[in-house]
Amino acid sequence: MNTDTTQAAAQNLDSFPSFDAKHPPDQKLVDACVHCGFCLTTCPSYRVIGKEMDSPRGRIYLMNAINHHEAPLSTATSQHFDSCLGCLACTTACPSGVQYDQLIAATRPQVERNVPRTLGDRLFRQLIFSLFPYPNRLRLLLIPLFVYQRLGLPKLVRSTGILQRFMPRLAAMESLLPNVTAESFQDTMPTVIPAQGEQRYRVGMILGCVQRLFFSEVNEATARVLSANGCEVVIPKSQGCCAALPQHQGQEAQAQAIAAT
Ligand code: SF4
Ligand code: SF4
Repeated sequence: MNTDTTQAAAQNLDSFPSFDAKHPPDQKLVDACVHCGFCLTTCPSYRVIGKEMDSPRGRIYLMNAINHHEAPLSTATSQHFDSCLGCLACTTACPSGVQYDQLIAATRPQVERNVPRTLGDRLFRQLIFSLFPYPNRLRLLLIPLFVYQRLGLPKLVRSTGILQRFMPRLAAMESLLPNVTAESFQDTMPTVIPAQGEQRYRVGMILGCVQRLFFSEVNEATARVLSANGCEVVIPKSQGCCAALPQHQGQEAQAQAIAAT
């Protein structure tokens, strides 16, 4: 390769949009990955999509390449970060102790800041971030969902495939919709649940935004276990969202605003 070609190639690499200077994925954490692949089978996105780029190892490769300007931070590459569920099964499975949680947490806000999304994507995400961290807003949505389920419409919608055809994302969410019950409309847990037997600890409990509406029995079971193990459980009435949802999706401003309240 002559000098001109080498310079042009170097310029081309430099022109790849990379992570910005605000907390990019730490190269030291990236380098800790020895590419052994032990994490692959634990990764749900890899198991469903079946592509290396949608595995923890592939995403770490990608972060490395973007850090070194060998691949762009773009719509094409960021889709592989978007497909990560953030379940962190890979982090506990990794024998080298790679802190994938730190890496993906650094990558998400980079994607939000630097990769433009389609209008449909923006609207869909806006809908989620305007609803899910706010139980009172979500509760309003429960009314039409309750009616929808009571009229038996899910069976009809799924058998015709109409939602899947025209709004596949909504169809995916609909397929996961838990049963909306009368309990979903109110917070039934008391503010304080006494410890059974001798009190050993006092524990604060976060009910979760979606969990308190759709999976309140999980909260009730947690409180029972804590109480049975000598914990007084305190459940502040005024609690809001813990900010995990926006934080884990790179919505830093919203997460900080929620955490501050
Ligand atoms: S993240 Fe850990 S388990 Fe996965 S490839 Fe890298 S070193 Fe191996
Ligand atoms: S956190 Fe992401 S990469 Fe890790 S196992 Fe879950 S989906 Fe896979």
